[in-house]
Amino acid sequence: MSGLAMAQNKIPDFTEVIALDREQADATADELLRWGLDRWGDRLVVASSFGAEDVVLVDLVASIDRNARIFTLDTGRLHQETYDVMERLRRRYDIKFEVVTPRTELLQPMLQEKGPNSFYESVDARKECCNIRKMEPLRRVLATADAWVTGIRRGQSVTRTDAPRVTIDVPNGGIYKLNPLANWSEDDVWNHIRDNDVPYNSLHDCGFPSIGCTPCTRAIKPGEDVRAGRWWWEDPTSRECGLHARASTDSANL
Ligand code: SF4
Repeated sequence: MSGLAMAQNKIPDFTEVIALDREQADATADELLRWGLDRWGDRLVVASSFGAEDVVLVDLVASIDRNARIFTLDTGRLHQETYDVMERLRRRYDIKFEVVTPRTELLQPMLQEKGPNSFYESVDARKECCNIRKMEPLRRVLATADAWVTGIRRGQSVTRTDAPRVTIDVPNGGIYKLNPLANWSEDDVWNHIRDNDVPYNSLHDCGFPSIGCTPCTRAIKPGEDVRAGRWWWEDPTSRECGLHARASTDSANL
């Protein structure tokens, strides 16, 4: 996080945010990113977990400013294919990712007391693991920002159908949240990847539309919801990790 000061966030005015969302409604993803980078500079962070939408974001952002802040949450349980695409992107665009890792003082006690696979035992145990490996690191990086960018699309799942392009993320500190790809289709994403020869995660070629941690992600069958491969052993209503908890103006999710 390059020593940036922690944000002194004042929750933005909802009326202003709704107006900004309308103002940016017709902006392309590239235009919205340029606007965000002009407005917030290094107080804007771009999230990437290296799924298809995220590699598009990396391509767009790096083409605007290769020094823009792009962060990733390295949970310690990612697929090797995810590390591989991270490295290919790093070399291709000559960029550095901000790699945010879990705190040892939180992770070590959980591993010692509950073992390496506690997430399979209950929803609470899974949420504890997600909190330590994802949520706490996310809060740490967002505390250095006034705005963040995600690769959420409205067509990704039923929980994302009303995702705006500009919103407030109240649960994550009341900062702005931009979803430049909200109005993109899956075809738009893949056409961009192919047209621009963007490196992508090879797991997408093996039936993984949504890629998270290795033990908690699996391939899906044709016709299943794209997030059906995440935490597949749980009731579908509990399957968000909290990274994109519902904010007061949207239902944006990762
Ligand atoms: S997705 Fe699984 S391994 Fe990754 S943080 Fe959540 S529970 Fe832990």
